[in-house]
Amino acid sequence: MSKYVYLFSEGNASMKNLLGGKGANLAEMTGLGLPVPRGFTVTTEACTRYYNDGKVIAAEIEAEIYQMLARTEQIVGKNFGDPENPFLVSVRSGARASMPGMMDTILNLGLNDQVVEGLAKLTNNERFAYDSYRRFIQMFSDVVMEVEKPRFEKILDAVKEENGAKFDTDLSADNLKEVVKRYKELFKAEKGFEFPQEPKIQLMEAVKAVFRSWDNPRAIVYRRLNDIPGDWGTAVNVQEMVYGNMGNDSGTGVAFTRNPSTGEKKLYGEFLMNAQGEDVVAGIRTPQPMEQMRAVNEAAYNQFVETANILENHYRDMQDMEFTIEKGKLFMLQTRNGKRTAAAALKIAVDLVNEGMIDRNEALMKVDPKQLDALLHPNFEPKALKSAKPVAKGLPASPGAATGRVYFEAEEAVEASKGGEKKIILVRMETSPEDIEGMHVSQGILTGRGGMTSHAAVVARGMGTCCVAGCSDIRINEEEKYFIDRDGRKYMEGDWISLDGSTGNVYGERLPAIEPEMTGDFSTLMQWADEVRTLKVRANADTPADAAQAIKFGAEGIGLCRTEHMFFEPDRIPAMREMIVSRTEEQRRKALDKLLPMQRSDFEGLFREMQGYPVTIRFLDPPLHEFLPQAEVDIEALAKEMEMSFEDLKGIVSSLHEFNPMMGHRGCRLAVSYPEIAEMQTRAVIEAAINVNAKGMSVVPEIMIPLVGEIKELKYVKDIVVRTAAEVIEKAGVKLEYKVGTMIEIPRAALTADDIAKEAEFFSFGTNDLTQMTFGFSRDDAGKFLEDYYAKKIYESDPFAKLDQTGVGKLVEMAAKLGKQTRPDIKLGICGEHGGDPSSIEFCHRAGLNYVSCSPFRVPIARLAAAQAAIGGGGLGQK
Ligand code: ADP
Ligand code: MG
Ligand code: MG
Repeated sequence: MSKYVYLFSEGNASMKNLLGGKGANLAEMTGLGLPVPRGFTVTTEACTRYYNDGKVIAAEIEAEIYQMLARTEQIVGKNFGDPENPFLVSVRSGARASMPGMMDTILNLGLNDQVVEGLAKLTNNERFAYDSYRRFIQMFSDVVMEVEKPRFEKILDAVKEENGAKFDTDLSADNLKEVVKRYKELFKAEKGFEFPQEPKIQLMEAVKAVFRSWDNPRAIVYRRLNDIPGDWGTAVNVQEMVYGNMGNDSGTGVAFTRNPSTGEKKLYGEFLMNAQGEDVVAGIRTPQPMEQMRAVNEAAYNQFVETANILENHYRDMQDMEFTIEKGKLFMLQTRNGKRTAAAALKIAVDLVNEGMIDRNEALMKVDPKQLDALLHPNFEPKALKSAKPVAKGLPASPGAATGRVYFEAEEAVEASKGGEKKIILVRMETSPEDIEGMHVSQGILTGRGGMTSHAAVVARGMGTCCVAGCSDIRINEEEKYFIDRDGRKYMEGDWISLDGSTGNVYGERLPAIEPEMTGDFSTLMQWADEVRTLKVRANADTPADAAQAIKFGAEGIGLCRTEHMFFEPDRIPAMREMIVSRTEEQRRKALDKLLPMQRSDFEGLFREMQGYPVTIRFLDPPLHEFLPQAEVDIEALAKEMEMSFEDLKGIVSSLHEFNPMMGHRGCRLAVSYPEIAEMQTRAVIEAAINVNAKGMSVVPEIMIPLVGEIKELKYVKDIVVRTAAEVIEKAGVKLEYKVGTMIEIPRAALTADDIAKEAEFFSFGTNDLTQMTFGFSRDDAGKFLEDYYAKKIYESDPFAKLDQTGVGKLVEMAAKLGKQTRPDIKLGICGEHGGDPSSIEFCHRAGLNYVSCSPFRVPIARLAAAQAAIGGGGLGQK
C-alpha cells in the first residue's frame, strides 16, 4: 500500500517531488532541529490520485490523514476540537516549484464556537481568540466555500469605522466578537447553512480545496508562463499553529539572507508585530524593516540571524524565510531558495563561489537563463535621466527601466497588448494573482500600496519586469482610471510615463533608453559558461547593426541571415518589384543586376562585422507577392511609376495570389522557377567574400537553401550555386572556400535527411516552419485558438515558443541521425525562435546539434542555457 501522508519528521529536502517544496523544506528544517511547529504533509501523489478518482479523497487517504493527525496531537499534547486543550492547525499548499500567491493558506483551522471560548480562557486572551476566529472564518469561506474576501473586508472596515479603529489591532475583543457574528451571518446568507463547526470536516474540506486550487485559472496561467507541468499536483501541509497575533510581544515576518534585488550579503526583510500570516505582505499596516527587530526583541532577533545563517550554509544558497514570534519565541514556518532579480542572481552566484560555498558549475546552475533577459534590455540614458524630474517616488521593487502608456486594469493591458501596443505600464493600487496576465504583457508595473514583498514586487521580480511598488506619492483612482502625481498633474489611460525600477522614481514623460553593458559578475559568469558548454551560439542577424549587437553579446557566428529583409528598404524595393513584374528572363536579369551591388555590399558589411566567424546566408524565402502592393490605389501608383498599365500590373498581382502562401510558391521553389535569382544571390555572396578576404579576412560563407523537401530540388539549386560560384572565383583568380547546405523545415526533408545530406554540407533546423508544418497550423493564426487548448489542457505551452520535443523534436533527432549517417561531419544547427529558449536549447544539446542560433538579445541566455545543458542535471531553465 502506498503511503500518502508523512510527518515532518519523516521527510527531508530531497523529497520535493512527493512533499512539494514547502513540505520538503519544513521536514528538512525539522531534521536540522530548528524550531518548526509540528505537522504532516499530504503528498502530491494524493493530489494526483484525487484527480484520477474524480475529485474525491479516497477512504484510505482520509484514514491516513486522521491517523497522522492523531500522532501529531500526541506529539504536541493537544486535541483537535477540544475546547479544554485545543489543537489548531494551518492548512498550506505547496507544489514542487514555488508558485507565489497562487494557492491560498488557511490559518487557525479547528476553531468553532466552543473552541474559541476555550482558547480565550486557556490563553486568558479573548481578543486574540476572536481575532484568530474571524481570520479563520474569512479564509475558510474564501478558499473553501468561495465566499469572496472583499465581502468580509467590508464588514471588518465597517466595524472598524463604527468603533473609530484605524488598524485591525485597534479592535477590542468585543469588536472582534461582533465581526465574527457578522461574518457568520454573511456566510449563512450566502451558503444557506451555518458555518461548519466540526473540525474534522473543516480539515477535509480544506485539504480538498487545496487540491482543487491546483487547477484554478490563475494557477494554470502561472504554470504556463513558468513551464510547470500540469500533472505535478500540489502537496498539502497541515501544521500546528503558532500565534503572531497574541499581542505586542508576538509578530510575523519574511526575510531573505541576502538582498533579493541587489544580491548584497545582508539580512533583508520585513516584520509586523501583533500580526498573523499574510498581514505582512497584504500591505494593511506598514511593516518594519528587519534591523528594527533587534530593538523589539533582541534575543529573538539574534536567534533568527543565527537560524538564517544555518539555513544558508545548509542549502548553500540565498534563503527566503517566513517566521512567527509567539510571545517572544521564534518559530520557522518556511524556507526556500529565494527568488531574486537577474542582477542579484549573478552577484549571489559569483559571491558564493568566491566565499567557497559552491563551485563554478553549481553557480552556473543557480541562474535562470531566462532571467538574464532583464539585464539585456535598455536602461534610461543617464543624461536624460539627470535632467528629468521625478514626479513621484516609490519602492525600487524590481529593477529595469520602462517607458509606456498607462493602463489601470490588467484586462485592459492585455487587450491593448493584443491590439499591438508594445509599451504598457500597469498602474494599480495593488496587484493580485488575477492580474498576472496583465502584468506579463506590461513593461512596467506601478502600485500605490504594498512593500518590497508585496504581490506586485514578488511577481515582477520573478518575471524580470520593472516594478515600482508602494508609491504613496501618487493618488490612484482605479474606478475613474486616472492618477495624480506629487505636483497635482493628472494622468489618464494612454498617457506616457517612465519607471526606474532601480531607484523607484516615476517620471511623467517618455525617457530615452540605452543599451546594457555586460560587465562585472555578468561577464564572469558568461566566461564560466563558455568554458563548459559544447554547443556553439550564433545569432540570427540580417543587418550589420544586428551583427554588431550579436558580437557584443558573444555570438560565434550568424546562423541565419534573411536576405529578403534587405529588399524591403525604400531604395531597393523598386528594383525588387521590377524583377517580380518582369515578363522575360532578360528583363528579370536587368532588374537583378540592379539588386546585385546592393546585396553584395550588405554581405560585405556583415562579413566585416563578424570578423571571420561563420555567416549563414539564406536565399530568398518569402512568396513574391509580399513585395507588391495589394490595395488598388497602391497598385495604380506603382503602375505609373513602372510605366505599366494598371490592368497589367493588377493582372500580375492577382496571378501571384495564393490560397495558402505559407505553403505556396516560396523558398527554393522560387529559385527553381527563376534560377536567375539564385544566380544573383550566389554572385553577391561570393563576390562579397572575395572582396573582404582581399583585405585580410578569411570568411567561409555558408549558403543556405530554404524550404527543401526533395533532394532533387536541392540539387537543382545547388548546381546553380556551384556553377556560378566557380565562375566568379575563377574570374577573380583566388581561392575561396564556401559551403552549401539546407534548412530542414519541411517534414519531408527530415524524413529523407539521409538523401538530403548527400548534397547538403550542413542542416539548419528551421523549427518555426517545421513546427507549423508538423502541427498543420500557422504561427500567425494559432493565437486565435491556443487559449482554448490551454484552457482545455490539450496543450500546456505554445509550441512556437517551446519546442515540441515529442513530435517536432522527434523529426529533429531523426534528421540529425540520418544526416550523420550519410555525412559524418555534417554541421547541425537550429535557427528557429526555439534557438533562444532554454528548454529547447537543452534538447538541441542532447540531440547532438553543433550550434543554436537566436536573436542577438538572447545570445547570453543561450550561452548560459548551453552551459547548463552541458553540466546536466536540469538547470533552472529546464524545469
Ligand atoms: P504562501 O505559500 O502563500 O506563502 P504559506 O503556506 O507559507 O503561504 O502561509 C502564509 C503565511 O501564513 C506564512 O508565512 C505564515 O505567516 C502563516 N502561517 C502558515 N502556517 C502557519 C502556522 N502553522 N502558524 C502560524 N502562521 C502560519
Ligand atoms: Mg509562504
Ligand atoms: Mg522557413
